[in-house]
Amino acid sequence: MDTIIFKYSPDFMTTHNLTEYARYITGIDDITVELADKKLCKNPYVDLVNKIIYLPKTDYFDNLDIDIFRITKAYLCHECAHLMYQEEKCIIPEEWRNDFLILRKIENTIEDLRIENLLGNEHKELRDDFKFLIEYLWKEQYAIPPLDNDTVMGHGRFGDFSYDLLGSLYWLLQKRYRRAELIPPSGCNNLLPFKTIKGIDKLFENEFVPVLDIFINTKISSWETAVKMLNILKKNYPEIFEA
Ligand SMILES: [Zn+2]
Repeated sequence: MDTIIFKYSPDFMTTHNLTEYARYITGIDDITVELADKKLCKNPYVDLVNKIIYLPKTDYFDNLDIDIFRITKAYLCHECAHLMYQEEKCIIPEEWRNDFLILRKIENTIEDLRIENLLGNEHKELRDDFKFLIEYLWKEQYAIPPLDNDTVMGHGRFGDFSYDLLGSLYWLLQKRYRRAELIPPSGCNNLLPFKTIKGIDKLFENEFVPVLDIFINTKISSWETAVKMLNILKKNYPEIFEA
């Protein structure tokens, strides 16, 4: 198949062109892309069974700058990667049920890293786009006031668990596997979560990296890996999990 270049221009943003690009990236001929009303589709997602990628339409008309094109490309390719590499079904064993919410957050994060890494190996030019997207999303998330230094409940990607602990882990994961620098907007520097969790960077190098290096480049179950990660966290930060 010929190389199809993603064009940073408004007239590229049609279902036809985006579908052609998704077909080129995935090599899957019956994949389609749909632009959905933002009220119905807040975030991009993929229907794995019917191979349809939904992108929120309003973005293309609200603010047509270079960042939006790039974010669109990264989102589209991210959903393509789910289609290419993600297992369709996952059965959660009974003994994991109590920790389901936290496991799902960890699982989502590492699965996203894994699929982007696998696609980035096939299309090296996409690596910078994924990195750009995560840095953009981090800034957006950090820009939500108010934050304070205590454990923030109900905020951000990790929701109702220790924001500091999982925020630290998230930061270290992106830094290592996406080489992204996640810098909070000015004025929020004292709120970096990883500064408040003692020893998390050493623990990351010594215990998480060996588990993750294997996971990232293979088709090992992301749930099993998430369970391993949660067990490491529980062993090292029991006070956070007992709370
Ligand atoms: Zn994803």
